[in-house]
Amino acid sequence: MESLRRMASPTTRVIRGDSLISVPTRDIVVGDVIVFEEGDIIGADARLFEVFNLEIDEALLTGESVPVAKSVDVIQEHDKPLGDRINMVFSSTTVTKGRGKGIVVNTAMETEIGNIAKTLASTSVVMRTPLQKKLDILAYALFGLAVVLAIIVFSVNKWKVNDEVAIYAISLGISVIPEGLVAVITLTMAFGVREMAKNYAIVRKLNALEALGSITNICSDKTGTLTQSKMIATNAWLPDDGLYRISGRNGFSPEGNIYRCGENVTSEIIEAEGEKVTPDNITYAFTRLVQASALCNMAVIKKGKSDNEWHAIGDPTESALQVFAHKAGLPKPVLTAEPFKFELVHEYAFDTGLKRMSVVCKEKSTDTHYVFLKGATESVLSQCTKIQLGENESNLDYEKFEPGLYYQLEKLASKGMRVLSLAYRRVNENIEISKWTREKADADMVFLGLVGIYDPPRPESKAAIQRCFGAGIEVHMLTGDHPITAAAIAKEIGILPLLWSPELESEGKFNSQLVMTATQFDALSEEEIDKLRELPKVIARCNPDTKVKMIDALHRRNKYVAMTGDGVNDSPSLKKADVGIAMGLGGSDVAKQASDIVLSDDNFATIVNAISEGRRIFSNIQKFILHLLSGNAAEIITLIIGLSFIDHDGISVNPMSPLQILFLNMVTSSPPAMGLGVERASNDIMDYPPRSKDGLFTWEVIIDMIYYGIVLGGLSLANFVIVIYAEGNGDLGRHCNSSPTGPECVPNDPTCDQMTLEIACNQIFRARATTFATFTYSLLIHAYNCRSLRDPIWTMKLYDNKILLWSVIGGLLTAIPTFYIPGLNSRVFKQLGIGYEWGLIVGAVIIFEIFVEIYKFIKRKNLKPLKLVEGEGFKRQYSINEYA
Ligand code: ADP
Ligand code: MG
Repeated sequence: MESLRRMASPTTRVIRGDSLISVPTRDIVVGDVIVFEEGDIIGADARLFEVFNLEIDEALLTGESVPVAKSVDVIQEHDKPLGDRINMVFSSTTVTKGRGKGIVVNTAMETEIGNIAKTLASTSVVMRTPLQKKLDILAYALFGLAVVLAIIVFSVNKWKVNDEVAIYAISLGISVIPEGLVAVITLTMAFGVREMAKNYAIVRKLNALEALGSITNICSDKTGTLTQSKMIATNAWLPDDGLYRISGRNGFSPEGNIYRCGENVTSEIIEAEGEKVTPDNITYAFTRLVQASALCNMAVIKKGKSDNEWHAIGDPTESALQVFAHKAGLPKPVLTAEPFKFELVHEYAFDTGLKRMSVVCKEKSTDTHYVFLKGATESVLSQCTKIQLGENESNLDYEKFEPGLYYQLEKLASKGMRVLSLAYRRVNENIEISKWTREKADADMVFLGLVGIYDPPRPESKAAIQRCFGAGIEVHMLTGDHPITAAAIAKEIGILPLLWSPELESEGKFNSQLVMTATQFDALSEEEIDKLRELPKVIARCNPDTKVKMIDALHRRNKYVAMTGDGVNDSPSLKKADVGIAMGLGGSDVAKQASDIVLSDDNFATIVNAISEGRRIFSNIQKFILHLLSGNAAEIITLIIGLSFIDHDGISVNPMSPLQILFLNMVTSSPPAMGLGVERASNDIMDYPPRSKDGLFTWEVIIDMIYYGIVLGGLSLANFVIVIYAEGNGDLGRHCNSSPTGPECVPNDPTCDQMTLEIACNQIFRARATTFATFTYSLLIHAYNCRSLRDPIWTMKLYDNKILLWSVIGGLLTAIPTFYIPGLNSRVFKQLGIGYEWGLIVGAVIIFEIFVEIYKFIKRKNLKPLKLVEGEGFKRQYSINEYA
């Protein structure tokens, strides 16, 4: 758990040794330069020296709910209150907007938040998971049962409560309570969490572990999760110049050329031929497009010193554009140097809601200001009033221009490309940037053109989605991209059927609308959404609010939802989802804090693996609960019926002593239960439907428990009876519960004969040993029965679970000394060594197995299979398209 906490602990980006690296926040030292942006949580107190639009939520420290705008200005006054020290950032506060850099002045307990922490006693709130709550209820119920059973014991003995009656009641109490359960569950979960962390899913809240197995729907981001985030700009389109093709390898290597293909967009865009673009033939409009790509961009492309590979620092979309600018020969480093000398004046950072970003730049060589804008086409176009045609700006005639533009856009998007539009404006008036707003900056723009960026799907996404379908889990893709881009990728990875096309959908061939934009989805009322036959598989142009709406809609359909998120605005949906999953690499700290699970590789396939792991853990918990509780049930049955063995003094003869029961529950049953807890996943674990929310105690499991309890309890009791009545003479003696020789007869009691009493008690002690042995060996074999609810024992491999095997062998051996070590047997376990009774024991174990197998056989024949059959899982997803 400690190592997990370390993995989940926050990291901070620092500049050390000339490079930007990410270190665990606790490794920051005074003097470090920390770098942060929207969504980050500040790791130390620091003095700012560079800010862009930086706003920080300091509610934690100051109680001020409005984010504070920061600056780098010197503050002269002393003793400014915390909220007014605007050239500082403080540990544990969150960046709500912008970006910045600062020099660390205080760390850990020396920080402002540390001061507060010092004064507060650390009270950790322990949350209980639904399973723990269920087990709490079970514990109370069992406690109640124990009390009731004690009352029954006392009543049967007519409330003459002496030592022996009390011991009988204690035996029952011990038999009711599964002593090993809590330890086994805790260990199983801890092992499970460790296993998941190894497989890139870090569980932040234990609840998630349980919820995972019940997930029915996954809502996933596209970019970076289903796709690789290795974006590459492959095409550009300008209204006047037509199509351009950009060559080069995948990844961020800036080696490659740009070809101008002319106006006709062939369907094989990628292969289009054309004339190579050089500084001599580059057009004015294309130059502007490249400038916008390079300057409205915070990404940096660098060649790694050690591996000689090209790396990008920054947003993948922007990195792809920067690579594009490199290929065109006008990347940011060139534009900011002589002869252009562009200088960044202000940045309006990318906003997922607005879906655009802009920068204000000053071209020092000509002393002119420019605004460069890039973003989703709808968003950019709404800010444009002009259009760049050749070297001239013309007024934008929407009606004439839009159809052609969207035709080009959809051509690119249908290849799965994310299409960005770029625009710019020369600012003619005098500029006083502090008075500017985003609205002012982004207005009256000149439209330049489109750039198509391809983000290949992760190779493992498709298989992972198939696995989900097989497991009865539906996958939804929620993305900020254009619906056609989203649909193209969704088709590629199998979320949408290959046959899907917007035309067929609008003809109503799919019975439900599978692809929607957030605008369409948000326009629906709750009732309308509930009436939809299926919720959309793809939501494009998605806003953070839409995610919440989607979760609500799924919840109204009684679905159990896993939702991924990375941005600051994703916290509400991550919190609301049954399992909120944040991205460890590309996600913001805020999203991580709101999540239940963090993926350390941002990969969709990891989610599916985690679900499979969650299912495994839960089915294992179910197995050992069945094992432990059927043992308990058998013990209760034995002891309750055993109450009817009344000796000459009117006292119940104990068929099992308290120590025997305790030994059974803890030494015999717990290690095999642990063995069941670490069972590997069966190959078909993803062929079952998601388990229902209260899936632990299904009726099947409860009835199994009772049945196994009755059979085992009955057989043990039968052996007890056989030893006393068939081998012995049926004399139950008096007070034989504590000593094999019985108590001393009261002098002058004619009904008491010391010799007869000793024979009777001796017999009872041997009978008790037989009962105990029957229990021990049946329960050990029973561990193998519990490996499957339905499959027969001979399908279980003996050696594939070593812990189980060794704990069974260990159990077989550890019981033996309890029979034969003198003193230990009679004084502690209240039993005696046995001989021919072993035959009875073996016989009972065999009969137990026969009963178990007959029962499982009947279940197999008569119950609906647990597994999904063909047509329920994978096929069902496609049946909506059966028109084909
Ligand atoms: P996703 O959920 O797929 O990551 P985003 O919300 O990041 O989607 O992006 C949505 C849209 O916003 C994209 O299709 C693109 O048009 C635009 N966009 C994405 N990143 C940037 C950026 N850095 N600057 C400007 N526009 C962007
Ligand atoms: Mg994104």
